[in-house]
Amino acid sequence: MYDKYSMVADEFISDDEINETLKYADENKSNRELLSAILDKARKRKGLDHREASVLLACDLPDINDEIFRLAGEIKKDFYGDRIVMFAPLYLSNYCVNGCVYCPYHAKNKHIARKKLTQDEIRAEVIALQDMGHKRLALETGEDPVNCPIEYVLESIKTIYSIKHKNGAIRRVNVNIAATTVENYRKLKEAGIGTYILFQETYHKKSYLQLHPTGPKHDYNYHTEAMDRAMEGGIDDVGCGVLFGLELYRYEFAGLLKHAEHLEAVHGVGPHTISVPRIKHADDIDPSVFDNGIDDETFLKIIACIRVAVPYTGMIISTRENKNVRERALKAGISQISGGSRTSVGGYAEEEEEDENSSQFDVSDNRTLDEVVKWLIDLGYVPSFCTACYREGRTGDRFMSLCKSGQIQNCCLPNALMTLKEYLMDYASPETRKAGEELIMREVDDIPNPRTREFAERHLEEIGNGERDFRF
Ligand code: SF4
Ligand code: SF4
Repeated sequence: MYDKYSMVADEFISDDEINETLKYADENKSNRELLSAILDKARKRKGLDHREASVLLACDLPDINDEIFRLAGEIKKDFYGDRIVMFAPLYLSNYCVNGCVYCPYHAKNKHIARKKLTQDEIRAEVIALQDMGHKRLALETGEDPVNCPIEYVLESIKTIYSIKHKNGAIRRVNVNIAATTVENYRKLKEAGIGTYILFQETYHKKSYLQLHPTGPKHDYNYHTEAMDRAMEGGIDDVGCGVLFGLELYRYEFAGLLKHAEHLEAVHGVGPHTISVPRIKHADDIDPSVFDNGIDDETFLKIIACIRVAVPYTGMIISTRENKNVRERALKAGISQISGGSRTSVGGYAEEEEEDENSSQFDVSDNRTLDEVVKWLIDLGYVPSFCTACYREGRTGDRFMSLCKSGQIQNCCLPNALMTLKEYLMDYASPETRKAGEELIMREVDDIPNPRTREFAERHLEEIGNGERDFRF
């Protein structure tokens, strides 16, 4: 039975209800009257439920599909302006006891290089990341209670926050580790993490059990209910996602939105971010054996429909996608991207030997962070290294109320410009710096509140004179 208030995964996800949703969406995919009514509702910027959004996703009318993309772009512009938040993944360990059939870190892979960074190696990685200009990281580990216990993750977070190399600092550490206990989530919260990220991979229980044949991750309910435990442990920013390609994308889309509805219903705040990874080639993983792969057009439509359904939620795309797809995804609704990423353990400080590959997936966008920043600026976006909300305690519903108040443009834009200025001063190539300075001059005029604008102008000048770390 479907119940979004239930704390049991089978009830708040409910396979039966998703199947009914997909049937309803199929029956109405050309229903112009209903589609127009759903779009009217979406124009109010209050979001859509999973059923309404599923009808949009199924829609086969070209003019309505164009309107979905147009509206997604418009909503994104309203909530995020031109800002794109930058981050990088940091792989700490690829030891894993699970048997996920789509990931090369699965326990049966005996030839992949297994690595776990020492605290000294983490220092080297973080210095390399700071020297690129990164301020926000997503920690990644496999699941292994012996080789990668929670104590190791906590110690690593402490190490990362402690490193201040030149003008660098990691100001927000998001964490992507396996589903765990309320007690461990509480420890992560106390360690000062930003968002807790956990991908569902697939919401389809039967497929989930087959795709995760062995290890603790096999437990669908424990995994799916992890965000509730995280919130119970005090973490109020959680990041959801599925791995597109494993199951039928329309099923995953409905499951993802139902998960968001459940979190909002029970905890008063939906996911802080949604990620949209697609399955990619890696070591012993061939994506073509998974027969639910989606083409670029479908992928972009999923992004646009998520943007319309959950306007306040950040959307993340990684370097799994190539430059061309990332450019189109930004228009469709993405608000955060990684740049200069390495998906191997220890990949920032040292290049890996050919026979030593420890990557989780092949990267499709190999550009440096500076190249990505310059590309964004040339496209008219403002690359942002802002981490202010988390540091000001604006998380969970406090963050959402900032979004909903419409004050985000008075807060995020100056923060984005100030952190971009820091990047330009400390890390950018001469071409990027020139383009960035011109962009800042143009964008600063768009800060609506005159006092805020004046404050930002003063601090931009001070950053130019060597001062750092101002924020709203
Ligand atoms: S997806 Fe995560 S849990 Fe599964 S094998 Fe890879 S690292 Fe381990
Ligand atoms: S002010 Fe908050 S919401 Fe805005 S960019 Fe910074 S961290 Fe994000």
